[in-house]
Amino acid sequence: METQNNSILIVDDNANVRDLLAARLSKRGYDVTTAVNGRDAIANIRQTPCDLILLDIMMPIMNGYETLEKLQSDPDLRHIPVIILSALNDMSSVIKCIELGADDYLFKPINSSLLWARISASLEKKRLRDQEQKRLAELAVLQQIDKELNTNLDEQKLGQIILKWALRQTGGQAGFFGALADEHVIVQAIQNLDTVPGQSISLSDLGADKAKMNGQIQYDTVSVGEGLLEQARSRILVPIHRQDDIGGLLVLESAAECNWDSLNFLTRLSNHAAIALNNAHLYTKAQAANRAKSDFVALVSHELKTPLSVIMSYSDLLHNPQIGQLNDKQTHFLNAIKDATSRMHGLVMELDDITRIETGKMSLEPKTVNVATAVNAVVNLLTPQFTEKQQTIATNIPTELPTVWADHKRILQVLTNLINNANKYTPVGGHIQVSAAVKADSNLPVVQITVQDDGLGIDKQDQPLIFSQFFRSGDTQVRARRGAGLGLNITKKIVEMHGGQIWFESEFRQGTTFYFTLPIAETAVTKPLAA
Ligand code: ADP
Repeated sequence: METQNNSILIVDDNANVRDLLAARLSKRGYDVTTAVNGRDAIANIRQTPCDLILLDIMMPIMNGYETLEKLQSDPDLRHIPVIILSALNDMSSVIKCIELGADDYLFKPINSSLLWARISASLEKKRLRDQEQKRLAELAVLQQIDKELNTNLDEQKLGQIILKWALRQTGGQAGFFGALADEHVIVQAIQNLDTVPGQSISLSDLGADKAKMNGQIQYDTVSVGEGLLEQARSRILVPIHRQDDIGGLLVLESAAECNWDSLNFLTRLSNHAAIALNNAHLYTKAQAANRAKSDFVALVSHELKTPLSVIMSYSDLLHNPQIGQLNDKQTHFLNAIKDATSRMHGLVMELDDITRIETGKMSLEPKTVNVATAVNAVVNLLTPQFTEKQQTIATNIPTELPTVWADHKRILQVLTNLINNANKYTPVGGHIQVSAAVKADSNLPVVQITVQDDGLGIDKQDQPLIFSQFFRSGDTQVRARRGAGLGLNITKKIVEMHGGQIWFESEFRQGTTFYFTLPIAETAVTKPLAA
């Protein structure tokens, strides 16, 4: 690790003062440079920055006041502390210099004790100020790193970001990031090395031992030919924590030695990286769990379909008088079987749809659809349900309504779900109305279809959840009706796949109105559906 002497610039036109001071300071271990006036001094520090300036006031070409003004006006130089050397014993000149930005002053002839005290106080002040500046700059860098890390949930990409910043901030030449597996690192991200992703590197080859690393950064000097990089002279191993263990390892190599600042930065980087990598890891796990759930749902719905259709066909056959006459009790039982299997069939079809949507396998076959025909078909099919509950169902579809561009089967499904819900969640004697009209969307006109009921309504606290999978209201009157809470979730996704929107308005115990939009066929032909 390198250490540095403080450097001091003496600016005085008097050679005796310069030489004497230079000799005393050099003896104390300071790196000393000299200048004969302000102009030389400025040129000098622009080339080789220094930690402190001892500045005379009265000098030819550029005096102390002008020099202070120049220093203050330059953002790169204004932070260098200046101690005024005044031969004048003239407080007003010193005050003027302090006003111009000088930090301290000494009267000539210079008292040794005062000289050392003031020099070390000024240097300490500068050290603290430099440290603060460095910390602020590092914070800005860490903020930028966080921004990059937090917008990423891919573990491999995170590895690349961590490696890129680690090399950039420490001046390292090459390195890699990998996941720790027992006594090996599986490489995920590489820079300037021949290693490939997926390669397994033994920790002992890197001079590391998982147990001994103990979560601390390890810094090693590397002999010729021992590094991953031909010219490597130093190697840093940065363990990245995952909960109670070390989950990843960052390996950096450099042809130069590394400094403390770099090691401190890497400690902070590893903390930030650990959080991002943990989040990414949890996300990957959540995704895998979600995939497992989808696979399970897919398997169940697939496996239930065949036996269910067998039960349904045989129950239909039993109704056939040619098979044999059923008595009233048998007919009653058979109807109960048919009712239950039909509900089960509905649920299996909904699970099948959910799987298709989640795996991106639901495709649309859009064509021109007449809304009135579709609404009437659904209303006719559901009429027995309305009759049974003595409800009225009215339709209001203008004859001049343009056709929509949609998958006919899926639009029937959407309408069936909404009209069926209106029937289900409206008490006996209620009123349902289905209407449609052309509405101006933000840019293109669309057909808006409305299904309105004067039924149970939806409680305010349930409203934000209504389109969520498996959501059913806790309302006891809703719970008295059968359902799985999947219909609206599927409906929303189907409408959105068509490029439409769906929403609702509801007043508890007053009624609910669902709205959804579909593209007009004529405009959709020039602007096809996303699906
Ligand atoms: P299901 O009807 O099978 O429960 P849906 O996804 O179709 O599933 O509906 C989800 C929930 O939304 C219902 O359980 C009910 O709480 C509420 N809901 C839907 N439509 C209406 C409606 N027309 N009136 C009142 N509540 C409704």
